[in-house]
Amino acid sequence: TSDEYHEVPYKDADIIVTSPGIPPKSWPKVNIEIISDIEFAYRILKKEVRVPTIIGITGTNGKTTVTAGIAHALNTTPYGNIGRPFVSSLNEISNTDTVVIELSSFQLFSSPSLHCDVAIIVNIDPDHLDWHGSLDHYKAAKWQIIKPSNQTLYVPQCLVGDAEKTNANLTVIESLSPPSWGQFSGQHNQLNAAIIQDVCQRLNVNKDALNEQMASFKLPPFRCESIFSNDQLTIINDSKATNMAATLAAVNSFSGDKLLILCGEPKEAYARDWLEQVAKSCHTIYAAGYLNQHQDVFPEGMHEKISFFSTLELATQAALNVTHKGTILFSPSAASFDEFDNYMDRGQAFNRYVNEAI
Ligand code: ADP
Repeated sequence: TSDEYHEVPYKDADIIVTSPGIPPKSWPKVNIEIISDIEFAYRILKKEVRVPTIIGITGTNGKTTVTAGIAHALNTTPYGNIGRPFVSSLNEISNTDTVVIELSSFQLFSSPSLHCDVAIIVNIDPDHLDWHGSLDHYKAAKWQIIKPSNQTLYVPQCLVGDAEKTNANLTVIESLSPPSWGQFSGQHNQLNAAIIQDVCQRLNVNKDALNEQMASFKLPPFRCESIFSNDQLTIINDSKATNMAATLAAVNSFSGDKLLILCGEPKEAYARDWLEQVAKSCHTIYAAGYLNQHQDVFPEGMHEKISFFSTLELATQAALNVTHKGTILFSPSAASFDEFDNYMDRGQAFNRYVNEAI
């Protein structure tokens, strides 16, 4: 409540704890340390209580799925960027043996001493360049999950070169064999499932008990979620795909005829190579909202591959009118703010448009 908080001038602060949404360029220009809420909580645990075993998960895509999966497998609560602040649960955390934390690049950038016993970088692809200013800055923030002290690190094959420069004990994600947990559909989710299984085995969770526990795990909503299916047509809602890498992963996950719906404000222009890969796999591409008003974000000479609609609703109605078999894949590839407040509102709206039209 406002009774518990009061405003103080910056100069009187011992330390400043920043909200992850505020980019460094907007931080006050003062000679006071600025840290993340995670770092703040970690310091309190370290100084005053005890630090449990920490499993930290970062990456451009798949953080929430892997974090939620590991937490479910261990029957514990996930913290951090997934939505439950680490700092407001210190009592709870100090009584657990293992804590699972989703870490965004924003949080890692200002978490200089946070030590994860098990660190997972699911992948790194371009994203959040407005906050970071450059891809190098974004990557460097992700690598902050690794500290010079020894720790276990999971990385994809493409990051092994960088990972070998650290002291960490490496596991290459693609070398793991995925479990047969049916809800993890698509190649990217198979990798997510393989990480979850391996981390749990590392923590000595019994394999049968793990399989039994994971039978009740549901992927978080709007991540390649099947919202309609009959023997002819499947409709997938992947509203959480807010960057191009996530959409490419979704496109590669579903075989057969596909109509893809893109929408939203992309973080950068679409690369020719990206669009070629997508067009090879999807017979039709629709683009709505901001993408209709800013068609120049698509490479020159490739516009004839795309049909444009002013709103997501119109694109969805058109997709349902023309498609009676195969897959309609809604995987926007861009932020939701052109038409919606967030990816959840966008996902719910898509479900509604489908229900109204089908
Ligand atoms: P994050 O928390 O990193 O945003 P999510 O688990 O919420 O990750 O998934 C975000 C988007 O990325 C969804 O569209 C999902 O289908 C896709 N995705 C999930 N795991 C992966 C992965 N390993 N590689 C690429 N894309 C993924």
